[in-house]
Amino acid sequence: MSRCAVGLGSNLGDRRAHLNAAVRGLSAVGRVRAVSSAYETAPVGGPDQGAFLNAVALVDTAHTPGGFLRELLAIERARGRVRETRWGPRTLDLDVILWNRQRIATSGLTVPHPRMTERRFVLEPLLEVWPDARMPDGSPITAATGAVAAQGLERLEMAIGDADWSTT
Ligand code: ADP
Ligand code: MG
Repeated sequence: MSRCAVGLGSNLGDRRAHLNAAVRGLSAVGRVRAVSSAYETAPVGGPDQGAFLNAVALVDTAHTPGGFLRELLAIERARGRVRETRWGPRTLDLDVILWNRQRIATSGLTVPHPRMTERRFVLEPLLEVWPDARMPDGSPITAATGAVAAQGLERLEMAIGDADWSTT
């Protein structure tokens, strides 16, 4: 069994519905242990586009990293994700943030997610669901938060995931 953190993001259409569907999809590929609060963030880079709704889910899974990523991409496609401009608006983006405490570097998958430590919208929800998470070099995730503290981020009083995700 592997423990992984999955980053969820949406800035197109019914953002909350997309994130809820993502949690439902994740509960079919592993055991969803926790889902963070929803956070609203202004888009970073890319074209002019709407604000993101972001969250992080903690999932235990028997999949291999590559198999798990394929499942994530299938969940994205099921929510109508089309890849047009890089970093453009998307109905649903699912990223593998951490996988155990492993470093993974294959052609299709880089873990830890290369930009995770630059993004408060990843670090903050990640620490909510996995407070003692560490990077592969052993450094605690909490050590990375100082550098992103100035980034704007709003924690919403909005639960992500249907009420029964934890019982599946
Ligand atoms: P981004 O999330 O950076 O905006 P995309 O969602 O379009 O980009 O992802 C493009 C590709 O990135 C995926 O098809 C996948 O193969 C690759 N990829 C590499 N590392 C990861 C990771 N840690 N999580 C998710 N996708 C990844
Ligand atoms: Mg992605």
